[in-house]
Order: sequence, then C-alpha cells, then structure tokens
Amino acid sequence: MQFITTLISATLDDPVTKLSPMALDRLHNPPRQSLWIDNPGHRHSISTYLAMEHSSKDAYQKICRSTARNFPGAQGIDDILSFHSVENLIASLTGIEKVQHDMCPNSCVAFTGPYANCDQCPLCTASHWNEEVLRGTSGRSKVPAKRFTMIPLGPQLQALYRDPDLAHQMRYLHEPGWDYLGAVLNGDIKQDDIILMVSLDGAQLYESKQSDCWIYIWVILNLAPDKRYKKVHVCPGGFIPGPNKPKNIDSFLFQQWDMRKMETGITKPPLILGLNYSRSLGVPLCMTTDLMHLAGNLSDLLISLWRGTMECSHMDNKDSWDWAIFHDEEVWAAHGQAVEDTGGSVPGSFDRKPRNIADKINTDYKTWEFHLYIFCLAPALLYSILPK
Ligand SMILES: [Zn+2]
Repeated sequence: MQFITTLISATLDDPVTKLSPMALDRLHNPPRQSLWIDNPGHRHSISTYLAMEHSSKDAYQKICRSTARNFPGAQGIDDILSFHSVENLIASLTGIEKVQHDMCPNSCVAFTGPYANCDQCPLCTASHWNEEVLRGTSGRSKVPAKRFTMIPLGPQLQALYRDPDLAHQMRYLHEPGWDYLGAVLNGDIKQDDIILMVSLDGAQLYESKQSDCWIYIWVILNLAPDKRYKKVHVCPGGFIPGPNKPKNIDSFLFQQWDMRKMETGITKPPLILGLNYSRSLGVPLCMTTDLMHLAGNLSDLLISLWRGTMECSHMDNKDSWDWAIFHDEEVWAAHGQAVEDTGGSVPGSFDRKPRNIADKINTDYKTWEFHLYIFCLAPALLYSILPK
C-alpha cells in the first residue's frame, strides 16, 4: 500500500527515478522521425556489435582492428568505434539507458519508494550500505551493498514507434478480430494505448549453478502473437542479482511504474499493484497464451490460500479463512497421499502418474503435475470439502 500511495504522488522528474536530463527530455518530446545513420564507420561498428551479441568484448575489438588494418583509406574507416563508444552511441541514438537502484544484499527488497531512505532492509535488517566502507570512513561514505539494473521501458516503446513497419505492426491489437479482450475491457483500452505483460523469472547464467539472477521482461501485446514473443520485440525490464529470490517484487518494479506516469502516454500502473481495476487484466486473462505460467501461478495462489501460508495484512485474521482446509499439516499430508493415489485412475494419455504434492511441493513438483493437479485432480478431490 505504501508503494501505491507513493506512486500516486510520483512524477517523472522525481530525483528518485534517476533518469538523466537527456532521457527525461526525450520522454517528454519523443523523436518522431525514423533513424538514419550517415557515417559508414558508425554503421559498421553497430552492425558488428549487434552481430556479436554472444561473443566477447575482445572479439569485437579484434574484428574492428582487423577491418581498420585491412581496408586503409576506406570511407569512414577512421570512425570505427571502440566497444565502449559503440555502446554509448547506441544508447544516445535510441535514448535507452540503464538505471541502477540499491537493493537488500539478500535480495529481499529494493530500496525504492517508501524504502528509499531505509538504512536497513525492512525484512531481514541487513544493512543498505557496505559496512566495511561505512566503518572505514566513520559513517561518512555510504556505498550501497548491492544494486540491480533496470532498463526504463518508456524510451524502448518510443524507439519502437520510430520504425514505420513496427509502428504499423503495433496496430494489430486494434484491428478487427481482436474483439474478445476488447469486449472484456469494455472500452477501457483506447486506440493509442500500449498493452503490456510483465514476466519475471530466475535465470541460470552459468551451467550447473542455481538461478543466480532474476530477469524481468515486458511483452508488448499490441503486436501480433507471432511477433510479440520474438527476442527482437521483447523489451528487457531489469536484472536483479541473486542468488536469493526477490521477496518484495513491487519494490523492484516500482521504478518502472513510477516512470509510466500520465505525462509520457505510457501510463496505467496497476497491473500488479491493483491501483485501478479497469487498467489491469486479472487472472487468467493477464496470462494471455502463457498456459505454463497460468498453471504455475494459479497453483501457487490457491495452494497458499488452502494451506493458509499466504501473507495477509494485519487487518485480516487467518483463523477466519474457512477456505484454509489444509492449514493442518496432517490433513495436507493426507491430501498429498490422495493425489498420489489417483495415479491408478488417471488415463495413460496424461503422461506419468502424479506424485505426492505434499511431499514434493518444495522440491521438484513439475509444471505438468501442477497443471494436472489444479485443473483435474483438485476439483474432484476438493468437491464438498472446500466451502461453497
Ligand atoms: Zn533483506
């Protein structure tokens, strides 16, 4: 709730958004002409940089050195850029820059919004600051203990509209045939609105290591389904270092909502925060065609309600939850066994037998098992047990 109230009063110009003056100016006055780069040295540098997305910085430098050595006197040859310079050029041409924010060293929260001035993590009390530096300078030098990276969404969306083809493709959502969600939304989505889906997941950056980074992305639903999931059209949102799972997701996403205030035309925060119901699609519509995460997230929500493990506000009382039928661990364990026992009656076309959900839920219960559980087994097993 604190995030919501802070959000309501936030503006783009708040120092807390950490956008550079140039980026702010571009958000207010987006460039409308399509982008053309005259200098062949710059074009070569950018093409090489993009082609080598999976290669090292060193490989980029070696190719550029080889080009410069082997094509002396060629047009633009003296303008081939170093790795650092080509990244800066791309950032200035597109207006897309990264922004870093402080976070709890144990990944619980980001020090944003209502937490911005906390010296300690409100969840685990770890220090906001690098204690060694803080002690070494008698408290004068406050260096954050850990930071995460965010890629502001506004400039990325504005960049999309500079390409005439893409600007046209963004109209898919409003073309005839898109009547289903349109009817659901009752006219809440207008012609020029951009509809987004946010998706956050752990990513394993190195082989045989646990998820060591959390990444969130924006999927642009204005684009047709065959285009919206393509890498080139997915906008990166941010990177949260692990190894722990972020606990307060709102605090990490807060800066993005913050910057999507009315003035940019990329408004309507509440997807997650639930500020304004007409501006967000609830479950299951918000999942669009992503059935895997629909099963996973629905299971997570429902099971934590049935077990009474979901966090609730201090105004609420879990003893009044008549739906918390598995609050008692013994009842939950018996239910887990009942799930396993259904195996003998489930047709072979459902793949393997489901395992005991109470035993395996914290380790490796698979998405297909959650799918089978939440849509097929739970409705039968909980019939007349769950209150109406
Ligand atoms: Zn913490």
